Amino acid sequence: MKLHEYQSKQLFSKRGIRIPRGRVAMTAAEARAIAEELGGRSVIKSQVLVGGRGKAGGIRLANNPEEAEELATEVLGMEIKGLPVRKVLVDEAAEIGSEIYLGITNDRMARSPVMISSAEGGVEIEEVASSSPEKIARVWIDPLLGLRDYQARNLAASMELPRDNWREFEGIARGLYETYVATDASLAEINPLVITKSGELLALDGKIVLDDNALYRHADLAELRDLDEEAPSEREARKYGLSYVKLEGEIGCMVNGAGLAMATMDVIKHLGGAPANFLDIGGGAGAEKVAAALGIILADHNVKSVMFNIFGGITRCDEVARGILMALREVRTDLPMVARLVGTNEEEGRKLLADADMNTAASLVDAARKAIAAAQGES
Ligand code: GDP
Ligand code: MN
Repeated sequence: MKLHEYQSKQLFSKRGIRIPRGRVAMTAAEARAIAEELGGRSVIKSQVLVGGRGKAGGIRLANNPEEAEELATEVLGMEIKGLPVRKVLVDEAAEIGSEIYLGITNDRMARSPVMISSAEGGVEIEEVASSSPEKIARVWIDPLLGLRDYQARNLAASMELPRDNWREFEGIARGLYETYVATDASLAEINPLVITKSGELLALDGKIVLDDNALYRHADLAELRDLDEEAPSEREARKYGLSYVKLEGEIGCMVNGAGLAMATMDVIKHLGGAPANFLDIGGGAGAEKVAAALGIILADHNVKSVMFNIFGGITRCDEVARGILMALREVRTDLPMVARLVGTNEEEGRKLLADADMNTAASLVDAARKAIAAAQGES
């Protein structure tokens, strides 16, 4: 779950990281009132859960409250990468001297959090990583020891941060680490962290991605979820307890079990196809859940064929077949589908699908081949 910039910055602020004064507005009139309150110049910042808002024209500098209102009207009418802007953050404008990057995430290979910094702030860190990797510094943090002061100083030194800012930077790095740990985040990022013209460090942008699997112990954070920002498919999947990740390919996959879902995607890739999603319906899924899952797959317009790969254990193949048929009665579609059902009640399941003229397959490879051929229009 991603948090908005304003939510992330408020969490940073609680841990002593300095952020600009400002508030969120839903209307242009509110934005003007906030700008009046702040006095002087302000920035109007679209609050949508994607990066690169600046480049897309979603971050604008207003010289006075009138301009703030005009720009807020514009920004609130925008769509950024397909997401309509519903609120703006109105912040006091900062006098930027230079922009740096500071972030923390999990390094799975190292099995520990890694804090990353770069003097090349303000641009996406992935860009810096590919164009000038030498400008990125990393320190790995032992979770039992926490971030050590010398590690923060190493980052400061590698960025050639002015000496005067080191102590302040150590505080920010510690605050960021504490936020990351306390919220069970998988990413916490300040980009840019700026050195203002008056020589102070200030977090201008903030991004936090929370681990959904840890949300059960953060009721306060779970409440921050912005339902407006969720893709309808994600909302549906969460409602029915499905693990769903949309991908860019054309073959919709419905599988029970995360491991089998991964294997299914691998086989599709291996045979030259591209999966449209990862979808695990979980163990013991009933017809209704299966129907919801198929609805989600069919709502994706990239999908050209659908492959079911069900290993019946606790999940019964006939129940899955009934779910598929139930969904197909609701969502009419001409998309080719292939089902591979094995295990508990497989004969009943296959018979139900065969009676409904669904293509069945004897093995995983057979199913994948048929789904790929169908997606390429060769069936
Ligand atoms: P992003 O594009 O979604 O990452 O949004 P950011 O909040 O990082 O803003 C993008 C860029 O806008 C920053 O890197 C700054 O260069 C600029 N910017 C943001 N806030 C201010 C501000 O208060 N004053 C000035 N002068 N520039 C700002
Ligand atoms: Mn940014």
